[in-house]
Amino acid sequence: MWFTIILILISALCVTLITPSLFETQRDTKPTKHSNKWNGPSTDTRINKLLAECITLLKEMNVPISNSICPTVKLIGSRRTLGRCCKKGSRKKYTEFDYYIEISGHTLGNTEKSLRNTIIHELIHTVPDGFCHTGEWKKWAKYVNAKTDYNIQRLASEE
Ligand SMILES: [Zn+2]
Repeated sequence: MWFTIILILISALCVTLITPSLFETQRDTKPTKHSNKWNGPSTDTRINKLLAECITLLKEMNVPISNSICPTVKLIGSRRTLGRCCKKGSRKKYTEFDYYIEISGHTLGNTEKSLRNTIIHELIHTVPDGFCHTGEWKKWAKYVNAKTDYNIQRLASEE
């Protein structure tokens, strides 16, 4: 009799201990609303292709952009920033190239023109002394706007 009761108690204890951990494991594999699914290297081949095309376009127009730009766009989770141009060493992973282009994953559904505008905006930051939106950056943005039908604005979020 006592043996049965103890056995039942032990089984109950085991179930309580094991069950939550099972739930946790399941929860971990499911993406939550808060997870930042855009962190890390992009696997979006379309945006990388757009980057390559924009680099070619600017080089053909003799815009003095850097020759050391990471060919893979890094997708970020930011909703406020459409894109960002990061220098070597600004993040731990950014060691191979002089510049890295980050694009908000939330904008991937935007029109191709809008994505190209953002990418070109960021690429112009790689011209010598082009890191601010004045001086060299402004000069080359104006140049691109005059020569193409792109509309490169100072604030990438104005588009
Ligand atoms: Zn900018």
